[in-house]
Amino acid sequence: MGQATRTTKLLLDLGKRRQGGANTGKRAFLTETAFYIDFFLTHADKLAERVSYYSEEHLEMRERAISANELLTWAEACTVATKAHPHPWPGWNFSERFADLPFAYRRSVIKDAIGKVRSYLSHRANWEKSGQKQGKPGLPGASEHPTLYQGTCELSLEEAKGMARFVRLKVYDGKMWRWANYPVTCSRYFQQRQRDLAWEQQSPLLVLTKQTAALHFPQTKQVQAKKVKESKSDPELVTVAVDLNVKNLAVITVRQHQHIMETLFVTDRGLDQQRYRHLKRIARKQRLSGKPVAGERSNQQLWRHVRRMNADAAHQVAHRIAAVCAKYPGCVLLFERLRKIKLRGASKSRRVNRKQANQLRGTINQTAREQAYALGVVTVETNAHGTSQYCSRCGARGERFSIRGGVRSKEQWGKLFSCPVCHYEAHADHNASVNVHHSFYQEWHWQPKLKRSG
Ligand SMILES: [Zn+2]
Repeated sequence: MGQATRTTKLLLDLGKRRQGGANTGKRAFLTETAFYIDFFLTHADKLAERVSYYSEEHLEMRERAISANELLTWAEACTVATKAHPHPWPGWNFSERFADLPFAYRRSVIKDAIGKVRSYLSHRANWEKSGQKQGKPGLPGASEHPTLYQGTCELSLEEAKGMARFVRLKVYDGKMWRWANYPVTCSRYFQQRQRDLAWEQQSPLLVLTKQTAALHFPQTKQVQAKKVKESKSDPELVTVAVDLNVKNLAVITVRQHQHIMETLFVTDRGLDQQRYRHLKRIARKQRLSGKPVAGERSNQQLWRHVRRMNADAAHQVAHRIAAVCAKYPGCVLLFERLRKIKLRGASKSRRVNRKQANQLRGTINQTAREQAYALGVVTVETNAHGTSQYCSRCGARGERFSIRGGVRSKEQWGKLFSCPVCHYEAHADHNASVNVHHSFYQEWHWQPKLKRSG
């Protein structure tokens, strides 16, 4: 029994007012106060405090780190005026600066600040220990809102007419907290997912970046999946193997009773080429503009485009993989452990492109795994040794070749595979994908090594 999660993003429309977006003033309200982050950074020693307590188990006094709840009580006592503490610390009077903030919201802000400052302090300590010059962790920002609790967010989708949809958020306008309406771009897929009764709603999250603001709606689902050990002993087991590559993003093969029932090639539709062209353009622009400005990123729009292309491809491929898994309930999804395909001596753009391709494979693996788990399909990572070098039919070591201009030539990373023993010839990626099944069942080359006794 496990839990699957998924998040649906709802973008707030911060475009121009005339085009239906929120006005600029409303945009500014969303920026969270960094009050408590500053507060904890100033009093960093409190976070490292040890508390002594009496242990019932060991019958003695012991010490432990201060808990988040204790820190929260302490921070409220120092900054919020109550009957018990009428005078907060000078300079840190939260109730004066942010009057009538809902208290549940304040608590979530404090807890969020504790987490951010703690993580920052430990990162900085690690960095100082490592003695490296680069990679100094940056101060925690207030870009990400804490969870929105009930009473601070309202979504009105039902009563809205046509495409005009709003979300009501409780925001701080510089003087007081009030409700404000934000237009959202809401698709039918979003509504479909919200209405899905199989998934349980969690508290939404407001996430702000430089350009965008979005509400993230997490949902969870209880999943019942068999253990892999149990499935493996089942003779009727169906395995779905995926070989991730650069041009053929995924080659999916389905096997049952030692027989390949289905093969699916998912190509990148020229993504690798396109990305390479963009990266070459970035390199050329950098060359022409000379030294980069310190602390400023160049070619942001192109980079964003490349990132979006990658994310889009990853989602599509993962969806195709999950669709194959959905056809065979109770199957096991197999990936080989990701190895990096390195390129040495090529141009910088080529190397960067390869790096992007490697990242893409990682994202596909991760996304497909999550989507499959929501269907109750468990993923197994198999030993990747030799999947592209051995024959998937007889297990002998074969060779890769390509056909260029009608002439067959042996190449290390050739498109095709041929076996010298059984003369089997196939697409190299298909051969590798079938070998992933062999690796899972520990057949031939992938037999577990015998342990020497005595
Ligand atoms: Zn063979």
